[in-house]
Amino acid sequence: MNLCDLKTIKQVMAMFGINFRKEFGQNFLTNHMVVEDIADQCCDHAHSTILEIGPGIGSLTRELAERYDHVVALEIDHGLIPVLKFTLDGYQNITVINEDVMKTDLASLLAPYFEKGPVAVCANLPYYITTPILMKLLESGLPFSDITVMIQSEVADRLCAPPGGKNCGAITAVLNYYGQPEKLFTVRADNFVPVPKVDSSVVRIRLYREKPYRPLHEGTLFRTIHASFEQRRKTLPNSLSAGFGELTKEELETCITQCGHPLNIRGEKLSIEEFTTLSDAIWHTMQSKKV
Ligand code: SAM
Repeated sequence: MNLCDLKTIKQVMAMFGINFRKEFGQNFLTNHMVVEDIADQCCDHAHSTILEIGPGIGSLTRELAERYDHVVALEIDHGLIPVLKFTLDGYQNITVINEDVMKTDLASLLAPYFEKGPVAVCANLPYYITTPILMKLLESGLPFSDITVMIQSEVADRLCAPPGGKNCGAITAVLNYYGQPEKLFTVRADNFVPVPKVDSSVVRIRLYREKPYRPLHEGTLFRTIHASFEQRRKTLPNSLSAGFGELTKEELETCITQCGHPLNIRGEKLSIEEFTTLSDAIWHTMQSKKV
């Protein structure tokens, strides 16, 4: 059964009396070659466990199960669970769980798999919740080897933008702290059913085992990044003043010049290394003000 064939998808869904649910961002892939390419390129080690978010009717799930040791698939839509039971029948290495990834305790769920070997994430993500899912995965602190996701092309360009580019955002800087993103390929909108309004791209993030830049205080790094991008048209001293009410503008200006930047620089020009150094200067200043 080709789960990417449009007629088959419609037949299977009719068999179980279900429809595409827009509120869950259901746009299923209809191009089997794309599914194979994602499964091939999402991870380097065959002896890996793959966490798949949103298996849909199971097209990517099956290809992942053919290539890797185990697949744990989290699907929010309970209507798809009997469908997955049918389409994934006979695969011993797939565990389907009917849960919302945003509410799942990933550390407990994946602990036995991390004990066995590498764990990677692979997903054709629902558009409505791309950034929260990515942030949850990154901030979980779990040692995933890779996170490979299909997302809107515009978001992919943002994730993979070099510092200083117009596409660069807070998420770009945060992502560069955790790993190295790479855009693998773009998939036109007519490769999905229902056809979405925009094209998609596949991004693979290779997560650092040892982060190259380590701030003195992680929370201050994230505050620095978010404050810098909050008001993009402002210069760095003004953006930081809005985000660090406990410091004066003069103190923040001193931090910026200490790090070798001109005062008229904008936050989006900074690399993750420069954000780390700046956040260390801010952290020192905050500590020195404490009695
Ligand atoms: N993997 C399938 C494919 O590539 O054809 C389906 C991808 S579709 C874009 C997104 C899938 O994520 C849907 O099956 C949807 O029900 C599921 N989903 C949406 N929100 C979710 C959530 N919060 N947790 C788990 N699954 C979710």
